[in-house]
Amino acid sequence: MNPNLAPTPAGFPVPKPDQLGAPFWEFARQNLLGLQRCTACGDIHFPPSPVCPKCLSDLQEWIPASGRGRLFSWCRFHKGYWDSVSTLVPYTVAMVRLAEGPVLVTRLAGVKTLAGLRLDQPVFLGFQPTVGDFTLPIFSLQEAS
Ligand SMILES: [Zn+2]
Repeated sequence: MNPNLAPTPAGFPVPKPDQLGAPFWEFARQNLLGLQRCTACGDIHFPPSPVCPKCLSDLQEWIPASGRGRLFSWCRFHKGYWDSVSTLVPYTVAMVRLAEGPVLVTRLAGVKTLAGLRLDQPVFLGFQPTVGDFTLPIFSLQEAS
């Protein structure tokens, strides 16, 4: 686990997993990023879907992602939309293209300024414990130790 990821503040918004998304959160509890893979055509996709977005097969399995990705886009949030998040602002949100292909929206931990960020910059998966027994997959510029 990335050591710079302190637990989220009390009152932090937590997910309400449905049947389709529950495996994602089970993987996260084990410090793994779960992705769906179509067993018919091999397409790896995110977010989870009841059918493969490429071939429409409903034969899906969950696999752990490598934890490697590259910056696709990013921005800085200066407003906390929930009281519990306001202690974290400003923070950086990024779109990360995973090594497996899907793009994931994530907070980019440990980034204090956008200066120096560049397209295709390598990012690394870490995990942040939250209130409510959830673990958030989150990326940073440093490889997890
Ligand atoms: Zn498919």
